[in-house]
Amino acid sequence: MNFSFSEEEQQFQHRITEFLEAQQHKPYGADALDFGRWADSQLADTPARREFNRTLAEEGYIGMSWPGKYGGQDMPGIYDYLANEALAQFGAPLIGKGCGIIGKTLMRHGSEKLKQEFLPRILKAEVEFALGYTEPGAGSDLASLQLKATRSEGGWRLNGQKTFNTSAHFADWYWVAARTNPEAPKHKGISLFLLPLTQPGLTITPIHTMGDHRTNAVFFDDVFVSDDYVVGEIDHGWTYICEALDYERFSIYTISPLRKAFDMLCESVRKITRDGVALSQDVQIRRRLARLGTEVEAATLLQRRVLMAAASGAIPSVEAAKFKLYSSELGKRLADAALDILGPQALLRCEAPHAIAEGHWEHLYRATPLDTIGGGTSEIQKNVIARRGLGLPLQN
Ligand SMILES: Cc1cc2nc3c(=O)[nH]c(=O)nc-3n(C[C@H](O)[C@H](O)[C@H](O)COP(=O)(O)OP(=O)(O)OC[C@H]3O[C@@H](n4cnc5c(N)ncnc54)[C@H](O)[C@@H]3O)c2cc1C
Repeated sequence: MNFSFSEEEQQFQHRITEFLEAQQHKPYGADALDFGRWADSQLADTPARREFNRTLAEEGYIGMSWPGKYGGQDMPGIYDYLANEALAQFGAPLIGKGCGIIGKTLMRHGSEKLKQEFLPRILKAEVEFALGYTEPGAGSDLASLQLKATRSEGGWRLNGQKTFNTSAHFADWYWVAARTNPEAPKHKGISLFLLPLTQPGLTITPIHTMGDHRTNAVFFDDVFVSDDYVVGEIDHGWTYICEALDYERFSIYTISPLRKAFDMLCESVRKITRDGVALSQDVQIRRRLARLGTEVEAATLLQRRVLMAAASGAIPSVEAAKFKLYSSELGKRLADAALDILGPQALLRCEAPHAIAEGHWEHLYRATPLDTIGGGTSEIQKNVIARRGLGLPLQN
């Protein structure tokens, strides 16, 4: 049994790490790569981050696993994973949404027009997307979504509301699920649309989360989408959304921020002395760190199982649910432990005079719960594991 990466894969890790180290010294480096803000790596948009993304694309790191006929490099999916882990390690934006979710779904189900319009722009990092699924009455039970799409000449008119749509205030295009057939059973009357976020009738208002991230509520007032921008077949959207959610769990959740935070905590414990005694000598702290270290290792191996399943051609939904559940809950335990171990100074915000690690721990404590909600809550991951993994269907 061999859990390590092949020689080629390790060479790739080395190459992208060198590339990222070099980017830190570019004029945009400090803003584009910032581990202190790792938890918002998907969310923040600045000119520096866009410039960084374009450089990443020019170097061929975007769409490596895409088929050659769509401009990809036909490389195994593991390289996308290795790239994302390296990016997360440096606090750089990940390659998830456009390349991992929208691009892959369009390749399978999009019309020729949509493929030609979007795939080359995704590969060049010229376009940012927001995902429009959740509504005030439809989150975990997404199939209950009510955004209404009614037939209009040459297209559809959308009316209703979405909520928690991250990036909608800066992205270019919107990937939106709406109900096209209210008479059909709830999983069968949903369709997927692409529309520009500048489309008349859209109102985007901020929702500020406790982790400092901005997400958005979006209101639709007779928003027109032409037939050309329907993804796949009308009323078949649920199937595409489920596939896209599998890509999301696979492509957006990374382990390296957790490993890095754990290493930072150990480093602090090695250095800090309290009341004349080194923290590293405290038995309770040593035990807690040993346990957390074991858990970080377990999370890493759960992620390898996702990779193994994906490499064998399966859709790793149960494996991805286990990894997401375990690693996101571990993120909270790690932040909790850091505050207990490092004491009151770790509770100070970054702007406070005596804050340690630039307020990283206090921020981590507020930001990690979001990971247990976005992309499907922990309870929903448990449902997936129970139903699909353990064969325990819900009896109605
Ligand atoms: C930071 C962040 C970013 C997000 N970004 C996006 C985005 O870009 N686009 C988008 O569309 N959405 C986004 N979301 C929304 C996210 O997908 C939903 O918040 C999530 O699916 C939960 O839905 P909800 O908030 O409606 O909670 P609900 O579904 O109302 O759940 C409330 C509580 O009930 C529990 N619960 C619900 N159903 C069950 C069940 N069957 N069994 C057991 N427990 C259950 C849940 O676990 C939760 O604890 C984001 C959320 C966050 C936090």
